[in-house]
Amino acid sequence: MDMQNGRTITSVSGDSYSSVFSELHALGDRSTTALFSLDAEGNITAYSGSLTADANAMIGTSIFSESNPLNVLSPYFEFLIAGDTISENCVLEDRRYRVTLIPIKFNKSIVSISGTLIRNSDIELTLSKLTEFQRHYLLLSQYSSDIITSLDDQGSVTYASPTLQRVLGYSSGDLIGGPIYELFSGEDTRAKKRVFSKILSQLPGQSTSYRIQRKDGEFIWLETTTRAILQGTQEDPKEILTVSRDVTERKETEERLLYLANYDSLTGLPNRALFRDRLRRAIARAQRNDTRVALLFLDLDRFKNINDSLGHQAGDQLLRGVARRLKHYARKGDTIARLGGDEFTVILEGINHPDDAAVVAKKILELMEPAFKVDGHEVVASPSIGITVYPDDAADMRTLLKNADTAMYRSKERGRNRYQFYTSDMNAKAYQYLLLENNLRHALEREEFCLHFQPQLDLHTQGIIGIEALLRWNHPEQGLISPENFIPFTEETGLIIPIGQWVLRAACKEAMHWQRSGLAPVRVAVNLSMRQFRQKDFVNMVAEALDESGLEAKYLELEITESFLAHNVEQATAILRDLHDLGVQLSIDDFGTGYSSLNYLRNFPLNTLKIDQSFVQDISKNPEGATIAEAIIALGQSLGLNVMAEGVESEDQVFFLRGRGCDQVQGYLFSHPLPSDQVMSWMRRNRKHQTLYEQHHLWPEAARL
Ligand code: C2E
Ligand code: MG
Ligand code: MG
Repeated sequence: MDMQNGRTITSVSGDSYSSVFSELHALGDRSTTALFSLDAEGNITAYSGSLTADANAMIGTSIFSESNPLNVLSPYFEFLIAGDTISENCVLEDRRYRVTLIPIKFNKSIVSISGTLIRNSDIELTLSKLTEFQRHYLLLSQYSSDIITSLDDQGSVTYASPTLQRVLGYSSGDLIGGPIYELFSGEDTRAKKRVFSKILSQLPGQSTSYRIQRKDGEFIWLETTTRAILQGTQEDPKEILTVSRDVTERKETEERLLYLANYDSLTGLPNRALFRDRLRRAIARAQRNDTRVALLFLDLDRFKNINDSLGHQAGDQLLRGVARRLKHYARKGDTIARLGGDEFTVILEGINHPDDAAVVAKKILELMEPAFKVDGHEVVASPSIGITVYPDDAADMRTLLKNADTAMYRSKERGRNRYQFYTSDMNAKAYQYLLLENNLRHALEREEFCLHFQPQLDLHTQGIIGIEALLRWNHPEQGLISPENFIPFTEETGLIIPIGQWVLRAACKEAMHWQRSGLAPVRVAVNLSMRQFRQKDFVNMVAEALDESGLEAKYLELEITESFLAHNVEQATAILRDLHDLGVQLSIDDFGTGYSSLNYLRNFPLNTLKIDQSFVQDISKNPEGATIAEAIIALGQSLGLNVMAEGVESEDQVFFLRGRGCDQVQGYLFSHPLPSDQVMSWMRRNRKHQTLYEQHHLWPEAARL
């Protein structure tokens, strides 16, 4: 039996609600009862029962037709149309039945007649079944955690189950007769009505979720499924049964998940996924409107240094600070995203000229100028910015991103804290860089590395106190390449371990070679990378290099940077103590650029502090630069360390340093880094104090200060 074809109950779907209806069908079967409805013309619109072999064939037939088994009811019809309810005994095929016919009115006219035909002998059984069914239905509607309502086509509530009060705070009396959508969230009644008609028009089993206001004013999410059209048709329902449940928790979880999938949890900025989506849309819009989109790619300068020396928490704090400044500056419609690490992007839409992007980039640089307060430290986080413009530089997203990245790297190469537009010749250079990386892997075995040596002098005695070994890569095609262009890469890949070991052994060997050539013993300084320092058998490796070359430990100096000390203090102390016990000298390179704690400095067995060349160069540029250099010298002295100034290029600087009691110097003014044979001749030439004295006639004057 298929009630779906009928009109009284058009759609029934799923679970317990439909089981109520199917029980009703079963009832019709077992008691040889017919349940049916007629339209106002006497045609059968729904039928279930077993008066005929094919129940479906009854639908659409008229009770006025002689062959229709229900023809026996035709005399009652005019009374029904007049509005009377009929309850009579009748005889059909020699059996006695009780017939009940009820006219159903809508807007004062009869729209249908519903009827039951029950064999007299079955009446009691049927009635008790019906009562049981009614009890089930009531229990179901009362104890269900869902709200069951019936609504008319205007959205007015005609019935509401008691759960309504628990979920929405309204009693059914509060709501009956009023349109339910009035409680939907939103200002606009038309929008609310749209949601309501969506609920009405959904197919059986489909659901709609929307926000609705509780009596106490709070908004919650309901999900409503239309379970059955109780009156009317699917296309034009007069009364519908809806089942709604509170899905606020699920909605909030969904929203949270959506947020997590699209936003960076550290800064609250859009993440890579959302950024890509926004860029894709921005490009599509620009294509349609014939406008431009600029993409800015930002990377913080020396962020790794900050992370290494102050720790990840401080790094995170800084990233949040950067995000806050960027967000604050953003125009409505711009997208600022964090792609990960210290990489940020800005999408600028609707710009007329690429220069507009430069204005923004300049503004961002300015915005980042003031130091950030991180963990009690003042930290400067200048960005390097790469800019690329759609459609000028590329027509697709992937290429745009690649271009912005390339331009950003170029801006870093050109000295950081600046912006750089993408140009088409950059790709060729990026390719060269890739090739470089590839070749670097083979440079050691191909013996392409060599060391250059730069003398370090004592202003006081005017003698050589040491020589710094500086790594060079002698590339077969590109000639000598500066360590700054490849050391970072070797650190990333771990290549620094074998390369660093080579440097150490080569420097010790070279220092011995000088001694054996008759020059006075001189200390050789070797630069270390953090990664080497953390190597498990690092101290043994140093001892072996000394043994192998025959160099006495006191003639080896290891240069470390501040970040070594700040990272893992206990481990660093242990290693430095072992090195100190071995007899090697220890110095801090580029002092002033990291974030070492003075407390720690005091506890490490250090010998020398090398003032970073940026401060030395600032001496002659501005008074603040001079003040900083002066403070560092005083600090080194108070810690009982030798203070060496690196990058000394001018006589003014010597003058100043000497005046402040800094006696050790290294820089182009005295000598550039030189190949081994040339540094040997340099040492021979400058062996006598007098030679130096004559060359740098300024010294006596400086000494007079
Ligand atoms: P650093 O240890 O601070 O070395 C000093 C750098 O300043 C050297 O650059 C040197 O050539 C340059 N310099 C010296 N005097 C002057 C001057 O008067 N003016 C100016 N403007 N510069 C001067 P270089 O050789 O390019 O080395 C750069 C950096 O690469 C080094 O800085 C060091 O951090 C790193 N490095 C060099 N060799 C090695 C190595 O064997 N291992 C590791 N891990 N790093 C190395
Ligand atoms: Mg150095
Ligand atoms: Mg240095």
